[in-house]
Amino acid sequence: MFHIGVDDTDSKSGMCTTYIAAVLIKELSKFSEVSARLIRLNPNIEWKTRGNASICLVMEAKNEEKIKGIVLQKVKELSVLENENTNPGVVFYRGEIPKEFNDFYYKCLHEIVTIREAEELARKYDAEVHKFKSGRGIIGALAAVGSDLKDHTYEIIAYRRKENWGKERNVDRASVYQMDAKTFPLTFNNVDYAEDRILITPHSPCPVFFGIRGEHPEILKQAYEMVRSEEKADVVAIYETNQGTDAHLEHVRKISDIRAYSSVILDGTVTREPGIITGGHVIFRLNNGGGSVDCAAYEPTRDFRWIASKLRVGDVVRVYGGVRADKLTVNLEKIEILKLAKLWEEKNPLCKKCGKRMESAGKDQGFRCRKCKTRLKGKIKEEIKRNLREKIYQVPPGAMRHLGKPLVRF
Ligand SMILES: [Zn+2]
Repeated sequence: MFHIGVDDTDSKSGMCTTYIAAVLIKELSKFSEVSARLIRLNPNIEWKTRGNASICLVMEAKNEEKIKGIVLQKVKELSVLENENTNPGVVFYRGEIPKEFNDFYYKCLHEIVTIREAEELARKYDAEVHKFKSGRGIIGALAAVGSDLKDHTYEIIAYRRKENWGKERNVDRASVYQMDAKTFPLTFNNVDYAEDRILITPHSPCPVFFGIRGEHPEILKQAYEMVRSEEKADVVAIYETNQGTDAHLEHVRKISDIRAYSSVILDGTVTREPGIITGGHVIFRLNNGGGSVDCAAYEPTRDFRWIASKLRVGDVVRVYGGVRADKLTVNLEKIEILKLAKLWEEKNPLCKKCGKRMESAGKDQGFRCRKCKTRLKGKIKEEIKRNLREKIYQVPPGAMRHLGKPLVRF
């Protein structure tokens, strides 16, 4: 098979690498059937403020020279080359995917990788690399080529006609709610119900009209037909993707094993109670085997912060999230409460005869029942009712990472 990887063609102000993929699928389908993967890579890399999506197209290995010409022409024509942060890369590879390409994909999910590493690996296996400007995109392009999707989902994306780019997207909201009601959980993250907001339309001026995520292509085609709008889409494409799979998360045993820019699943005990800091972020400290790390539920995670704020010292939890450059903070995506600590408070005793809460009879005088005058000596300890359950909680869909696995998929 012939593999085509493309990455880093867009900018905050426009374009989308998946749009170039959709245009290419249309153009290249005259040679053979084309399948497309949409691959998200390490979400903690700071210079990528948008989705960090790269694509891989797979088709029959014939007419390669013609195909390469079309791909390079379209990437050159459609990329936002004038933006200094847009540095496209294209990788062509024919044949079976080497294990090292697959390892490289995983490395790109969890670490920071250099352009040089990508170039060296491509050279070793005779993959053809094309760099535009610095060509940083060859990293994601090669990772997409090397990707294997053990767990995967699909996304159907409709793109807008060029004259509509940058204009407001008018999708009939009620039709999205109905589509969600009919297709959930086979589609997911269509609506944020707590915020009463539809999530299928992006807010950037890019060519994407709307996208629906789900478990298989057929349900996505049906869901797509249910969404109503006056605007007609230009092209529509379906991608197999690592979105919604938690592919970025790695189990880490000890806090000292945490690497900067990685994404971890880590067990520990709460050692400092949650506090709210400026900006409305909730932070608590987690300890495990001698090390400790702060865990943050940032303001955009909305109600999820109140879950984090109810934790108390001694609670045993499993946290899921991205690690910042300083390795001192985990940006929470999910919390699993493994064991709630038993908490006690001292209270006045209850009357043995009538069950009423007794009142103080004065300093060092014990307690007295107001009704029947029974007396008792000491205070009693009562367990505090915890307003949390031993289960997994996650950030609302509007705050989820592209790679984040919705609880409904667990
Ligand atoms: Zn009484």
